[in-house]
Amino acid sequence: LQSSDDDHKGVNVQVVLRCRPLTEDEMNAKTSIVISCDELKQEVKVAQSTAYKQVDRAFVFDKVFSPSSQQKELYDNVVAPVVKEVLEGYSWTIFAYGQTGTGKTYTMEVIPRAVEQIFDILESKGSDYSMKVTFLELYNEEITDLLCPDEGSNSPLNDKPKRPLTLMEDAKGSVFVRGLTEMIVYSADEIYAILDKGSARKHTAETLLNKQSNRSHSIFSITIRIKEFDSDGSEVIKCGRFNLVDLAGSENILRSGAREVRAREAGEINKSLLTESKLTRLLRDSLGGKTKTCIIATVSPSALSLEETLSTLDYAFRAK
Ligand code: ADP
Ligand code: MG
Repeated sequence: LQSSDDDHKGVNVQVVLRCRPLTEDEMNAKTSIVISCDELKQEVKVAQSTAYKQVDRAFVFDKVFSPSSQQKELYDNVVAPVVKEVLEGYSWTIFAYGQTGTGKTYTMEVIPRAVEQIFDILESKGSDYSMKVTFLELYNEEITDLLCPDEGSNSPLNDKPKRPLTLMEDAKGSVFVRGLTEMIVYSADEIYAILDKGSARKHTAETLLNKQSNRSHSIFSITIRIKEFDSDGSEVIKCGRFNLVDLAGSENILRSGAREVRAREAGEINKSLLTESKLTRLLRDSLGGKTKTCIIATVSPSALSLEETLSTLDYAFRAK
């Protein structure tokens, strides 16, 4: 996403910043607040003044959400317009990017609202549609199918012969995961049940394998095919896709051998804030511009996180 200006022409990338409130731990530590958000100017200011350090910087984003902003505000302003476009046949990827503990997973909890909105719109229009969802986790270049972990190459949950999940390319050049479970769904409740099951499996697998969840990426995708008739009565098929990506903690993405990977895959990786090559391939359409992209960068307001916050802000700013 960190491509040159040339690469960015005509590419739709929206970058949003969300600052969470201080956590109880941060309050107990009597940490000072170094971030201020101006939702009118869409500006974030970082200021710290100590005997050792002076920081005074400002960043402008497409949208800025202050610590007092509610989930509904973020949903209505960022996610709802995306859902509408997905139902018009566009593909969108929303990434949550930020340091561990800054609210990526919290922010991704808008998924049920999105699902509700999708069904509301489809039902109010009386559209003829079909829908499928996938849910996977990527940890250390290994893909785990969160909807059917018994099939995953690194599943700890059984010892049946394992079918590795591999990345393949279809005839049109789109990347897909061979063997990944696609659940056909007919209602919002079915998707909620799938989300619950997937999250529980993710948790179990992490515990059994002693994985650190802040090192894994998870991708939840909804693909919707809608059959409509235009004004002259001819059939129109719209196929939209919505990817919601809860990235690994940025402290891991930026520091785990990023430089080495960059050297290895110079051209490809330059375009990307994602140093994990399978993730880059999985999301190639998003990174290459076929899909519209929204990055929600998350930060803590605390002085304790200042360094990582600045690197998140720099990264997100450059992704614009
Ligand atoms: P991450 O996924 O980035 O590691 P989490 O989403 O788990 O971070 O958030 C860390 C903690 O902060 C959680 O307890 C979460 O409930 C809380 N939190 C995060 N963002 C917000 C927010 N915008 N408003 C209130 N609490 C938040
Ligand atoms: Mg998380």
